[in-house]
Amino acid sequence: MGGNKMDRETLLEKMEARLLTEAKKTMEKASEKEKYHALSKVVMEEIAPNWIQSEERFTNSKKAYYLSSEYLMGRALTNNLINMQIKEQVEEILEAEGMEFDALEEQEEDAALGNGGLGRLAACFLDSAATKDYPLMGYGIRYQYGIFKQEFNNGFQVEKGDDWTRDGDPWSVKRRDRAVTVQFHDEEVVALPYDMPIVGYGKNTINTLRLWEAHGKKAFDLETFNRQDYQGALEEEIKASAISKVLYPDDSTEEGKILRLKQQYFFVSASLQDLIHKYKETHEDFREFHRFHAIQLNDTHPAVAVPELMRLLTTEEELSWEDAWEVTTKTLAYTNHTLMAEALEQWPVDFYKKLLPEIYEIIHRIHNQLLVELRDRGISSPEEFQIIHHDSIKMAWLSIYGTHSTNGVAELHTNLLKNIELKHWYDLYPDRFNNKTNGITQRRWLLKSNPELSELITELLGGDDWVVNLEKLQGLRKYGEDEKVLERFDDIKREKKRELADFIQIHEDITIDPESIYDIQIKRLHEYKRQLLMAFYILDRYYRIKDNPKEEMYPRTFIFGAKAAPGYFRAKGIIKFINEVKKLVNEDPDMRGKMKVVFVENYRVSYAEKLFPAADLSEQISTAGKEASGTGNMKFMLNGAPTIGTYDGANIEIVEEAGEENNFIFGLRVEDIESIRESYDPKVPYEKVAGLKRVVDTLVDGTFDDENTGMFQDLYDALLKGAHWHKPDHYFILQDFEDYRRTQRQVEEAYRDRKNWMKKAWANVAGAGKFSSDRTIEQYAKEIWELQKG
Ligand SMILES: *Cc1c(COP(=O)(O)O)cnc(C)c1O
Repeated sequence: MGGNKMDRETLLEKMEARLLTEAKKTMEKASEKEKYHALSKVVMEEIAPNWIQSEERFTNSKKAYYLSSEYLMGRALTNNLINMQIKEQVEEILEAEGMEFDALEEQEEDAALGNGGLGRLAACFLDSAATKDYPLMGYGIRYQYGIFKQEFNNGFQVEKGDDWTRDGDPWSVKRRDRAVTVQFHDEEVVALPYDMPIVGYGKNTINTLRLWEAHGKKAFDLETFNRQDYQGALEEEIKASAISKVLYPDDSTEEGKILRLKQQYFFVSASLQDLIHKYKETHEDFREFHRFHAIQLNDTHPAVAVPELMRLLTTEEELSWEDAWEVTTKTLAYTNHTLMAEALEQWPVDFYKKLLPEIYEIIHRIHNQLLVELRDRGISSPEEFQIIHHDSIKMAWLSIYGTHSTNGVAELHTNLLKNIELKHWYDLYPDRFNNKTNGITQRRWLLKSNPELSELITELLGGDDWVVNLEKLQGLRKYGEDEKVLERFDDIKREKKRELADFIQIHEDITIDPESIYDIQIKRLHEYKRQLLMAFYILDRYYRIKDNPKEEMYPRTFIFGAKAAPGYFRAKGIIKFINEVKKLVNEDPDMRGKMKVVFVENYRVSYAEKLFPAADLSEQISTAGKEASGTGNMKFMLNGAPTIGTYDGANIEIVEEAGEENNFIFGLRVEDIESIRESYDPKVPYEKVAGLKRVVDTLVDGTFDDENTGMFQDLYDALLKGAHWHKPDHYFILQDFEDYRRTQRQVEEAYRDRKNWMKKAWANVAGAGKFSSDRTIEQYAKEIWELQKG
């Protein structure tokens, strides 16, 4: 092997050797899972030498570091083969031996160390930075259990543990030589790193994702054991290893909250110590630290980096407070991901005092320093500037003050930050604020998941430059009226729809019609994302067909995919409600040939890769001003699905690129919401909009059964009565219902002319160039990190 060639003999010999030593099986007898593992190990052998070379190439350069509590990586095998440009060769070799590559691929567990958009963005950024030859290293936590596996039991979500490395993890290298100690007030924990290679497309640059695993100082205490205290001998290890046990431990108790805080400090401290150790090998002067390091905080989860870097620089490296402050703010930058006030992270002062007293003292000093700065500038210090306020620590304020850059993730979001949410801060530090509209990697979300469309694009553009330069898709615009091209595009869409139908048949046991419109909403379950609005629409459509069986309906398959946070009662109620609607619709013979509802179980990256390419319609229907950017919207666009959506997040920029006439925009805009907020009475649409009362009332009139959980009554009350923490229908579902329904009618009319529909779909593909995470990462590298390419 060598270069980008995978030679047949060598591949098979190496796989066989792996199988013999690790599974005690020959190729003939090995299971698909065992073959997947053997193949992956062989691929790692290919990666390793280039990985080291790539690292050496950047030894003296400034590097960027991404601190994130989440990485939603998905599967690695095919992605690595594609980026190494040997996928086809490997596939051919294996298939000639009677193995089915797709079957091996399906054996890999998703590395699902994240919840949704924020974690998937981190994964896309790593892929883009490596591809664009930027030295970007990811730091995070190696959770033993990633996001839970979702099952439905009688329509209710049930969570199961996701022990993703149970059968081993061929993609990580344990680095005991780089372990560090993290000190809590009354506990010392060992942070043990595992490195995963991030292979850039073309294999020129291979970066690293370093994930920390927590262990006790003494994994096992022999002395204690020999005193017959068998439990005691393991105690330290059990307590410490809890830190990296699960992603988002239940935090409804104080214990749970403390554990989350420990997770944050654990990975931030370990990562910063790691950087400092490395820096010391070649440098002495820590006043230069920021010239070699740019550290991006992915939301406020790693915000404790501000006081921790101050601690390391002032106490361990003996910089003055002033010098350390300059280095810290110049090194760190912060990305804000949400406008929702309740999602802005804050911690009780008491937790910090108990767990991290030294860090608390530093935060207090930072807080005071800001007040002095404000006083000197003659500015009053309102609540918005109090990092410590009413016994809590505001992590967002700490992040803005302790860094040189605060960015939002779409134009609208950044403007709302500047003008409303963080206006005080923007007025104080206008130069710190900037926008970086999110993006997605076209390697995973088109080249890998939709090879057929990829091939067509490459043929039309006369090359595959688009794989590393998505703006090239502009060149597709000229085929927007070309019947032959649109027909081939249509054939591909139909093929992807058939493939999804087969997959859904197997995994959900539901038969869907590939000729129907695939209308898809896939994203985390949250009230602001308004899955309930789509459910009400489906139910209304159902009742209208029952009233008027002769009414024409273009056949439609409504597909949902979503996990609800385990403690989010309402989100779980919405899942149960959708599953009840699904049962009603799918079991009614009158709906045959008209509509079907699917709620895919355990939505995740590998499932997403099958859903986006098959979509006809992308549902992006959040309450305006609530979705910071969205990235699912971009994956749909890139695969040729027009959006039905609100003027929110990146939807606005999507429509700008693809044309409003090629998408379906509806509903209240941010300004509309501002102007009606005070006077809004959801009873008005509830009473006046034809059919709306009928669907809302199914929550309480016995149509559906929530098994006395009170879930449906709670949803009903949230819409019409409100609760002590919110007004009725604070996400404006009832107000937007009529316009949504009207727009869905337009969708149906437009789709009847399938040729014309494919023109809209094509305009979306051709306009998707802006939404590559390659573009986003170039902007971070140039405008925030000031990095040079390798
Ligand atoms: C892209 C993606 C998301 C984010 O979807 P949004 O619609 O932007 O919220 C969440 N989960 C998975 C698995 C994804 O691939």
